Amino acid sequence: MPVMTTEAVEEQPQTRVNLLGLTLAQMEGFFLDIGEKKFRAQQVLKWIHHSGVTDIGEMTNLGVALREKLLGIAEVRPPEIVSQQDSIDGTRKWVIRVDGGGMVEAVLIPEAKRATLCVSSQVGCSLDCSFCSTGKQGFQRDLTAAEIIGQVWLAIKSYDAFQAGNGRIVSNVVMMGMGEPLLNFDNVVSAMDLMLEDLAYGLSKRRVTLSTSGVVPALDKLAKVSEVSLAVSLHAPNDALRNQLVPINRKYPIKVLLESCRNYIAAQRDKKRVVTVEYTLIAGVNDQVEHARELAELLSDFPCKINLIPFNTFDQSDYKRPSGNAVSRFWQVLVDAGYIVTVRTTRGDDINAACGQLVGQVVDRTRRSERHRKAADSQIIHVG
Ligand code: SF4
Repeated sequence: MPVMTTEAVEEQPQTRVNLLGLTLAQMEGFFLDIGEKKFRAQQVLKWIHHSGVTDIGEMTNLGVALREKLLGIAEVRPPEIVSQQDSIDGTRKWVIRVDGGGMVEAVLIPEAKRATLCVSSQVGCSLDCSFCSTGKQGFQRDLTAAEIIGQVWLAIKSYDAFQAGNGRIVSNVVMMGMGEPLLNFDNVVSAMDLMLEDLAYGLSKRRVTLSTSGVVPALDKLAKVSEVSLAVSLHAPNDALRNQLVPINRKYPIKVLLESCRNYIAAQRDKKRVVTVEYTLIAGVNDQVEHARELAELLSDFPCKINLIPFNTFDQSDYKRPSGNAVSRFWQVLVDAGYIVTVRTTRGDDINAACGQLVGQVVDRTRRSERHRKAADSQIIHVG
């Protein structure tokens, strides 16, 4: 038996350490723990994340004895692709199985000069936003760092692009898939660390974006350890409406959330950063001109750009997508007020890859759709 000195191995001798999710510092700690030189960490990171190698036996600059030692205590195990679908517009979606049988989804959206990978952080989600298909599943578990960075690894692998010299297959990452990333803080921070790490994916901090629905204490904590870009899912210009759409607002209302975002931006060394405010437009709920005016007023001294996302329908929701005219009217009010405003075009429509549709092959475990329907029937959502 090899000497197993890492904590995980001591607790569960049969479990190998999955090297896929270890940051440079964690990998160095791992090698020091097993009595090896810490520079081995750099070599292994490059094998895994630059070359896409999962077989430790193929890591030829490690030496035979070290490879044999590693084979006994470690592994490089990405999550498993269950299905891959390609949209006619080039969007590619993967359903990915993780340990325990849960499913998550990742989506790559190619555009003219970049390709953005939307990555999941949890199996399901506990926050129950009323317009979100993931929220309908309830929460199953947090993804490990290996399962989060594994989505980036799988995306590149699926294009056979690790050593193909094809340029960057993934140029941007948004933590905007299934789950609330700030509720899986440590694993998300480790995975984002690998996204930025030159020995792994080497993305610029501007090209990695964490999107949160507003877990304020965790956002305050993030400001101390990360410099990635920030997006906030606002979706409403006032607390009464946001309480209905994004229930965590009852705990951390808009004013508190915006203050936390402001502090996050202020903590960055790059003083030109702004927050992306995401606003899903739902017909007859939050898409009226009055809402746009209220939003313009709310954000008047907030460093931001605004991304409008026309609601994408899905089976378990009675919400409707607004008309093109309603989206234009909303957009115009904000532009007239001086904001930079983008409207997210729907991508991957034919494979259900659009924002808010990432439900995968999972069941509604908590009967949330039913509860939302009942709530919608009994509630009048005030417009304006
Ligand atoms: S919108 Fe995000 S935070 Fe809200 S339920 Fe969906 S996955 Fe969770």
